[in-house]
Amino acid sequence: METFGNRVLLLDSRYEPTHLLSLSQGFVLMYMSKAEALVPSSRKIQTVNRAYEVPWVLVSQKCRPKKYRYVSPHFSRWMVYLRDHFTCQYCHHKVPLPTLTLDHVIPVSRGGQTSWENIITACKMCNLKKGSKDIKELKYKVRPYRPTYAPQALFPLKHRIFSMNAPAPWKAFLDFSQADIFYSECRS
Ligand SMILES: [Zn+2]
Repeated sequence: METFGNRVLLLDSRYEPTHLLSLSQGFVLMYMSKAEALVPSSRKIQTVNRAYEVPWVLVSQKCRPKKYRYVSPHFSRWMVYLRDHFTCQYCHHKVPLPTLTLDHVIPVSRGGQTSWENIITACKMCNLKKGSKDIKELKYKVRPYRPTYAPQALFPLKHRIFSMNAPAPWKAFLDFSQADIFYSECRS
């Protein structure tokens, strides 16, 4: 089993994990000033002249790689759950999948559309409580949005790391709880 002791986690400029690099690939990115060290380590790479430290985590200056950018995911129940991290957007509780629902922020009866901009994840309790009321009456603050990339694009990397032994310095950057829900859903 790979232990990732010789790997560098690369984040994009929004601190989302995008790649696992070898120490030498990480070093080259730093040397070319294309990425900066975020979490240092004592791991070193030897060049002709001297040894350089290679960090655990690097941040790229770039945003997401092109193939993930501007991907407009299809609107679906599952994708809304992913966008909202399987969390009720009203009470901010993470609830089991069977108790998740979708809610129209502006109710259909008031002209609300079924779209990224008007649909959020809600738990059954909050959905019932809200009913066809206006969110301003309930003092909820929600801002549904159209994702600019497919959230599942990152899952293969997260899964690879999650299913093995992620080094402690990486854990802050990996959304384990989300991966966990997705994982158990796949297995069942
Ligand atoms: Zn709720």
